Amino acid sequence: MLIKGGQVLSMDREIGDLPKGDILIEDGQITAVQPEISADAEIVDATGMIVIPGFVDSHRHTWEAAIRNCAPNATLDDYFVEVLDTFAPLYRAEDVYASNLAGSLECLNAGITTLVDWSHINNTPEHPDAGIRALQETGIRAQYAYGSANTSLADYWFDSKIAIPGDDVRRVRETYFSSDSGLLTMALATRGTGFCVEDVVRSEWTLARDLGIPITVHVGMGRLAGRFGMIKQLHELGLLGPDTTYIHCCYFSDEEWQLVADSGGTISLAPQVEVQMGHGWPPVMKAIGYGLRPSLSIDVVTTVPGDMFTQMRSAFGTERARVNAECWQANVDIPENMLTARDMLELATVNGAHVAGLEDVTGSLTPGKRADVVLLDATALNMAPIHDPVAAVVLSADVSNVDTVIVDGVVRKRGGKLLADVAAARTAVQASRDYLVDQVAQRKTTAPV
Ligand SMILES: [Zn+2]
Repeated sequence: MLIKGGQVLSMDREIGDLPKGDILIEDGQITAVQPEISADAEIVDATGMIVIPGFVDSHRHTWEAAIRNCAPNATLDDYFVEVLDTFAPLYRAEDVYASNLAGSLECLNAGITTLVDWSHINNTPEHPDAGIRALQETGIRAQYAYGSANTSLADYWFDSKIAIPGDDVRRVRETYFSSDSGLLTMALATRGTGFCVEDVVRSEWTLARDLGIPITVHVGMGRLAGRFGMIKQLHELGLLGPDTTYIHCCYFSDEEWQLVADSGGTISLAPQVEVQMGHGWPPVMKAIGYGLRPSLSIDVVTTVPGDMFTQMRSAFGTERARVNAECWQANVDIPENMLTARDMLELATVNGAHVAGLEDVTGSLTPGKRADVVLLDATALNMAPIHDPVAAVVLSADVSNVDTVIVDGVVRKRGGKLLADVAAARTAVQASRDYLVDQVAQRKTTAPV
């Protein structure tokens, strides 16, 4: 396949931007990115398009697609009660399937080609099977992060004494992830210090390392976990390592930032959730200041939109607002290292691949990487005329501009239309919503006063 005549933002610092460029794809791999390529290949005309690497969402609870917008005004504390303690216990395997199906298609539609599916909804062994099956069917690149059950707030989120069942994690690892080279890879989604007793924390970290899979954990957010000092505790347990992604990180002490940086850990931020739900400030510049390469994530569609354009603008606006306010207060000029639009596109693409452990596979348009490519229609009225293509993507584009989406060399969206059975996914996720909402209502009417 030859993508021809687009404005290419490779996000590879050596290749840079091509005002007009071609991308050659052979057997799902990018083999050349140059101003002009001639090849006997299927031509994808990219005239009028901006061509970027697919976005990487480094943390999303995809199982929540069926309960989209159920908690619009929730704080993080409300979310624990209204979502995790209300809907999660009612989820059947088929609800996880429907949500992961609709949720992954939502990602592809929005130009997200790689998804870290943080799946803490494994109420039975059928639940992970269902979630993984949906990811397989949509053809998205994903890291399936196996999480705990979520049948009770008291059991799973307050000094939990229940570890993720190692036998089932091993079963899933052997059944679906015996090779680490497919479209789907695996991680362990842990709850960590403060949420679990020490023995549970130790056993989950040990399990992941025995299986050679990375770890992902929420840390330092909100009124509760923001005060746990989770990184210090993990450090005291000797568990910090380069295989771990830390999510949110809003209330790290400087000592904790240094510990994460020294241990080679990675960072996932969910800016819109963080500012809206009270997790704290998205610490983009703080992370960069410690030499880290933060990535962006959606987190929950119960409360925020499911696309990366929102996240890029949220982080860009909030961090610049913070620095502008501090400079106004001190009556000084803004610093030279103020965030730029290009920084935000790096966070949403190549940094995401770094955080998901897939930087040699995706995240930039680099020969040798797999072909995860997005074409944005830059002739649309919200993008044209183009002065600066990076600014057009970061500050003007939205999901309506995502014209073509290619994952691993396979076209998943073309001419603005997903090449998938969208109606079936919508029917399934609507049926799932109906069931869950009905169950919640029934429990309310039968609950003792
Ligand atoms: Zn989360």
